[in-house]
Amino acid sequence: MSKTYTIPKTQKAAVVQKTGGQVQVQDIPVTSAEQLAPGECLVKLSHTGVCHTDLHAALGDWPVKPKSPLIGGHEGIGEIVAIGKGTAPCPVKIGQRVGIKWIAYSCLDCEQCRTGHEQNCLNVKLSGYTVDGTFSQYVVSYVHSVTPIPENLDSAAAASLLCAGVTVYRALKYSETNPGDWVVLPGAGGGLGHLAVQYAKYMGRRVIAIDGGEEKRKLCETLGADAWIDFEKCKDIVAEIKRITGGQGAHAAVVTTASSSGYTQAIDYLRQNGKLMAVGLPADAKLEASIFFTVFKGISILGSYVGNRQDAIEAIDIASTGAVKVHYKLLKLDDIEKVYDDMGKGKIAGRVVLAME
Ligand SMILES: [Zn+2]
Ligand SMILES: [Zn+2]
Repeated sequence: MSKTYTIPKTQKAAVVQKTGGQVQVQDIPVTSAEQLAPGECLVKLSHTGVCHTDLHAALGDWPVKPKSPLIGGHEGIGEIVAIGKGTAPCPVKIGQRVGIKWIAYSCLDCEQCRTGHEQNCLNVKLSGYTVDGTFSQYVVSYVHSVTPIPENLDSAAAASLLCAGVTVYRALKYSETNPGDWVVLPGAGGGLGHLAVQYAKYMGRRVIAIDGGEEKRKLCETLGADAWIDFEKCKDIVAEIKRITGGQGAHAAVVTTASSSGYTQAIDYLRQNGKLMAVGLPADAKLEASIFFTVFKGISILGSYVGNRQDAIEAIDIASTGAVKVHYKLLKLDDIEKVYDDMGKGKIAGRVVLAME
């Protein structure tokens, strides 16, 4: 017997009425079970993470423009309360707990999808960007794209894995490194960084954590970083990485920072055939790499963009073993205006998770 749910007519949602405008919590209609198309499901959200991308979506400062009006959010966890009539086959069921990630939908039939690059799908729908996202009590999603959440993972603790976790996990997975290899993580004490440290350690990599301040140093060391560099104190980061790695440089760097200098520097501290995994999405920064040394050292510069369904399942699965824990601050949906405000001022260091009620 599957559970039955009473779906209300209205719900609370955080809406950006006009791109560049304020986010406001207001009452809006809930899509009814009858309105769902085949392949769609209605998810009653309990928690959602807040990501820097949500700020870009509200401001509309990326080269790809968001929908308007917009409900942001792409790190949602909730229960499926309805599935569109005529959905067959259906990999999920009513009552199941699922996650909603940045890639809300991929067609599974285009060349990118067929080759496993669902995040680059030509018909992609993006949560909280091209379709309404998870800053609402109910959201319409897609049965083939939602991520099942294992029972032993707490909803609030799982939320941020769906974007930050998947993103850094995939970058590490495709970094062509082996156990014991050195991976540099600039911004290691931040929202993406602290998850990257834990995934990298789970994969048996040696981690050089770069960030600033005592609090971040303690966090990175607690999470298992093998070496720590304080960029506020270190005069020559390249030399320090060379010293730590026995003069050769690191095997890979996963660069999540918004500034271009983090990328430029990586070319210098990577060893021959090193991999630079570019993960951050700054609105207009350019990559300035020495072409000579990129060629001479055989450096690969690879863009790694969130992840596909399998990457999400793997990232969640690893976290469910207890190996990866999100450090987050739990607030309420009603706090979102303040969260956006603080994010705009750069006052939010780790991840923020909102409880829906
Ligand atoms: Zn995100
Ligand atoms: Zn596709």
